[in-house]
Amino acid sequence: MSIAGAAASADLTKICPLVIHRTNPKYGADETLVVRVKHVEFGGVKPVIIGGPCSVESIEQTLELAHAAKAAGADMLRGGAYKPRTSPHDFQGLGLEGLEILREASLQTGLPIVTEVMDPRLVEQVGEYADMLQIGSRNMQNYPLLTEAGRFGKPVLLKRGMAASLVEWLGAAEYIAKEGNLQIVLCERGIKAYPSGEYSRFILDLNVIPALHAETFLPVIVDPSHATGVASMVEPASRSALESGCHGLIIEIASEKTGVPQPKCDAAQAISPTTLGRIVEFAHSRAGQRSESKACAV
Ligand code: PEP
Ligand code: MN
Repeated sequence: MSIAGAAASADLTKICPLVIHRTNPKYGADETLVVRVKHVEFGGVKPVIIGGPCSVESIEQTLELAHAAKAAGADMLRGGAYKPRTSPHDFQGLGLEGLEILREASLQTGLPIVTEVMDPRLVEQVGEYADMLQIGSRNMQNYPLLTEAGRFGKPVLLKRGMAASLVEWLGAAEYIAKEGNLQIVLCERGIKAYPSGEYSRFILDLNVIPALHAETFLPVIVDPSHATGVASMVEPASRSALESGCHGLIIEIASEKTGVPQPKCDAAQAISPTTLGRIVEFAHSRAGQRSESKACAV
């Protein structure tokens, strides 16, 4: 059953036949493809919670937050080594050093890593360290990057462009799928729509979750941190996203210890590990209640 607009529905079969129910008969109308990142499964009954800093800033900061995320019950660790910043004068990330730090944090905690790659020339480098490659909102339509990430073969977290339609988003997923890689998790991270910017950074589009479930078998997660940009909005947005049927959340956290420096990036939206723990508890309490789709292996 399709709930997208008629024009969009017609386009989808031509634009992205590999990732939609109607043209990929391998997955039944109510099935979700299970995307595996080491022992973590996206698309099953248990929502996947990813926690960590916006950017990797130091070994101390990352290890503290990785252990805190683990203790809060998170399944995976996030953190940017390469950061897409509005100003070229702002902190751009630690690059390779950041990837080394993420590796150490993953070794110590057992949490698989998702981290962003922005440059097609760096897919191999980032992919050597990441368990899952993140394609950020600003790069959703960077087609050479999507193709390289698809070829690399590791699972991909594909964030929605901040002004992208459902068709454009699934078209981007198709670039990855065309390279033989269906290990794709979609991530709604807020869109620019009136009145974004007035009281929140973006508008969290929860409507897109059931719309995606109707069209595609790919798992869908939500990023309430970038969608709101406001720490106090992250917990209610997380609950609402889970109620709307998403398969997981990716959330930015910061230290709650006194005397620790503020994050260099996105400090206003970072929640404490304690709040993350409450969100994880809520997510687990909802796990048995997901019934709208069956999980399905590749
Ligand atoms: C991020 O998750 O680090 C990030 C920059 O998010 P987005 O691409 O959604 O802005
Ligand atoms: Mn951020």
